[in-house]
Parts: sequence; structure tokens; C-alpha cells
Amino acid sequence: MSATATRLLHNYVGGAWAPASAGDALDVTNPATGEVLARVPLSNAADLDAAVRAARAALPVWRDVSVIERARTLFGLRAGLERRKEDLARSVTTEMGKTIVDARAEVARTIEMVEAACAIPTTMQGRILEDVSRNVDCETVRQPVGVCAAIVPFNFPAMVPFWFLPFAIACGNTFILKPSEQVPLTQQIAFEIIEELGLPAGVVNLVNGGREIVEGMLDHEGIDAISFVGSAPVARLVYERAAKTGKRVQALGGAKNHMVIMPDAVMDKTVSGIIASAFGAAGQRCMAGSVVITVGKAHDRLLPDLVEATRALALGDGTEDGVDVGPVVSCEARDRIRDWIDRGVAAGATPAVDGREAGDGLAPGGAFVGPTILDGVTPDMDIAQEEVFGPVLAIVRAGSLDEAVEIINASRFGNGTSIFTENGAAVRRFRHDVQAGMIGVNIGVAAPVAFFPFTGWKDSFLGDLHAHGTDAVEFFTRKKTVTSRWFSDGQGHGSYFVES
Ligand code: NAD
Repeated sequence: MSATATRLLHNYVGGAWAPASAGDALDVTNPATGEVLARVPLSNAADLDAAVRAARAALPVWRDVSVIERARTLFGLRAGLERRKEDLARSVTTEMGKTIVDARAEVARTIEMVEAACAIPTTMQGRILEDVSRNVDCETVRQPVGVCAAIVPFNFPAMVPFWFLPFAIACGNTFILKPSEQVPLTQQIAFEIIEELGLPAGVVNLVNGGREIVEGMLDHEGIDAISFVGSAPVARLVYERAAKTGKRVQALGGAKNHMVIMPDAVMDKTVSGIIASAFGAAGQRCMAGSVVITVGKAHDRLLPDLVEATRALALGDGTEDGVDVGPVVSCEARDRIRDWIDRGVAAGATPAVDGREAGDGLAPGGAFVGPTILDGVTPDMDIAQEEVFGPVLAIVRAGSLDEAVEIINASRFGNGTSIFTENGAAVRRFRHDVQAGMIGVNIGVAAPVAFFPFTGWKDSFLGDLHAHGTDAVEFFTRKKTVTSRWFSDGQGHGSYFVES
């Protein structure tokens, strides 16, 4: 299909779908085939401004809707997502590449976010203490922050926007989403579902675009809070620039996640855990384990089975049955990942499984890189330190758990890390000493469920309050503390301690 015949996506602003005012647009492609699926507009400052005005106008209306009604709206959103979950999953696979099984799991997690936000009449409660002085009470209530905006990456087209959207509106905020310009289609479906909820116009808005919209959001005085998820350099830029205009910011960045394998690990289960973590979604998860650290004899116990299981993985179009690993998001990403493997080999690593040419017999326009294992990697190599964001697993040897922890703690990232062992003392030591926000014990992808915060450290996260769980309510509300006394019943003569 020619690009000109392809659908040009619309924005959703003030309760209506409308074309962006800018003329520029990019192709959205299916990375398994190279087919152009749609064109995404690169909206401009005027488009963003219209969304901010709509969101600001809706704010007083929406924050006064009762919290129970807001929760009921989320029940409706949950039902709508459930009804269209297969459409959402197919869209994720078609625009991003992950297998349909993985995409369904992503959509299930998306729905779980809405379920967690449905608890808002409980989770948004404040605190009260009577008699802080005689007849004086003190209470803290939570109120919405205002207009909240989210900027999201390509790797979870359904879920990552929903780390923020349901919690933000549950708390009485209005919301603007800028999807990744590489994968804007799944949120078109999500917003069709949102449209059916009959929310007041402007409560939830969708503005497609790239860098210009992001920078506009960071500078716009009509936006009160920014949630960002993406690569580490952009996370830093977002954090610094949004703070300059006094916004509340949470910026989740890149990662380099380690998996420590102890000699006593249950190896068959460990192999499955490593494979799912390193090669699921073709390694394009911020929680993907991309470095295995074998401790002592674990290396020789692990490697033959790991190599065999990796070689058995089927590479192909994620919509097809039996495919284990889909394409990476784009041909640019494919070339960058192949280049990383070249660099690792040039630095002295041995390709135990080499996926550089594994996709050559597949669709000519496809962005395939086969699962790759680089053995003999040392901690100083770039391939051990930098985020590749592809199906490339580095194997590093350590003599002891202490040495493994040292390697992990030397990383500038601190998103997730896992240990595989049956030794409770080693686990205790690991979870206590390791510098990362999310820890897995015999779990390769230790991404917390929606009811807990998603918590990176170091360069993997800039800010204070993390995504979803209890942190979401903290992030999307401002606290107001009221100290009060009453005179009319004759009891109000108590005094503040400052006067007593
Ligand atoms: P990216 O940083 O390229 O893009 C993220 C968003 O920022 C997109 O919406 C994009 O339009 C915008 N953007 C890109 N460059 C920009 C610039 N120079 N100025 C302003 N805005 C810009 O990230 P990506 O490639 O879409 O996603 C992959 C990255 O996201 C990986 O580094 C991955 O680890 C990270 N990620 C992190 C988490 C987490 O929870 N920490 C979760 C998912 C993905």
C-alpha cells in the first residue's frame, strides 16, 4: 500500500477527533513486514495548546465529580478494554512486533492498571488527627495536581500510557497523552474506548507527535505535571527542563539489568527464566535481563542448556503461531543492534549464539535480529555497560556473589536485577546489598503488579514518586493540610500550643 493512500491519524482533543494542524507526518510500519500501516502527524505548538486549553477548561468540572463516580467511570473503562482486548493485542503486535502471546499479557497488565485505579475511593483518602491542641483538629486531604501529561516509549504501546492515565483521572486531574510516534495505533483504539465513556470534553486528550510536542509540554505553563518513560538521555532532559517551569516530574529512563546465577540454581527453570527475560519482546523491555553473571561453577552448568534453548527459539512474525521472538521495532533498531553485536565481538566476546543474520531468510522488509549470546564478556566492555535494547545477552563470570553484586552496583543504571538460587542466605544478602529498584528471586522479569510501585534507581529513574501502585496516588495529588477549631458550641477556647 502506498503511503499516500494510508490513513492519517487524528488527535483527540476536547472530546473530539480532529486532524493535527501541521502538515508533517511519519509512516507507522509493521516491523515484521515493512508494510506502512498509517501516517502519524507531527503535531505542532498550536495543537498542543488546544489540548492544554481543553484540559484546563475541563479541570474544575472533573475534579468536582464525586470520587465514587470517577471510580465507576474506570469500571466502564475496564469493561471497554476487556471487550476490545484482542484488538488491542493485535495492534500491539502489528505496530511494535512482540508476539501475540506477549501482547495479550501486556493488555492484561494494562487492564490491571485500571483495576488498581478503581480503588481510588480508598487510596485517595487523607488523614486526620483530633486534638492536636485543645479542641483543635488537623487533617490532610488530597486534591488533584491539575493538568497532567505523559510522554511514553515504543515498547509497551498499550500498557505504559496506562501506568498514568487511569490514576491521573481517578484523582480528578485532566490528562494529555503523547504516544510514541513509532507506535501510535494502539492508543487510537484505547481512545475509541475512552470516547464511549462520555467523560466531560477535555478530561482526556491525545496529541500525536515527536520531539516538538515533548519540548512544548515541558515548557507549557498550563501543564502541572509530567510523567515520562523512555531512554536515559531523554529522561534527563525531560526532568531538568520540566523542573525549570516548576512542574512535578517523574522520569523513568533506560536500563541494563543483571541476572545472577548461583551454582545451586535449579537450572532448567533458570534457563526458561533467562530466555523469557533476555529474548521476550526481542529484548525490548526496560526490565529485560541483558547481562547474566554466573557465579563459580554456575557457568558450566548453565551454558550448554542455555545455548541449546536459545538456538531452538523460532524467529518470525509475532502474529504467527509458534513464533517465540518477533522483530525489533524498526530497521534502524535492527542495524543498531547488529552493530552492538559487532562491537562486542570486536572487544573480545565470543558469540555462543549469533543472531546477526538469523532474519535474512524472513520477510525482506522485516526488522529481524535473532537471539544472541555473547560469552566471555568482561564488566569493562561497553556491551556489558550500555543498553542495547535488543535480543542480545552478555555472559559475565564472577568468582563469588560479592563480586557479582559489585559488578551490578558499578552500573549507572538500577532498574531491575534478579538472582537464581535456592540459598536463602544468598538471597537475603543480594536483596539487601544490590542497588536497583526491582528485585527478582528466581524471576527473570520482576516487574511489579499494578498495585505496587514500579521503581527504578540511579540513571533508570529521575524524580521521587514512581509509576503506579501507591506512588501514583501520591504523584497525582497535592496534599492540603487544614488546622481548625470551632467557637459556637462554647468549646472553642482551646489554644494553639504556640499561644499556650
Ligand atoms: P525514547 O527516549 O527515544 O522516546 C521516548 C519518548 O520521548 C517518545 O515519545 C519520543 O517521542 C520522545 N523523544 C525521543 N527523543 C526525544 C528528544 N530528543 N527530545 C524530546 N523528546 C524525545 O525511547 P524509546 O526508544 O521510545 O523507548 C525505549 C527506551 O525506553 C529504552 O531506553 C527503555 O529502557 C526505556 N523504557 C524505560 C522504562 C522504565 O520503566 N524505566 C519502561 C519502558 C521503556
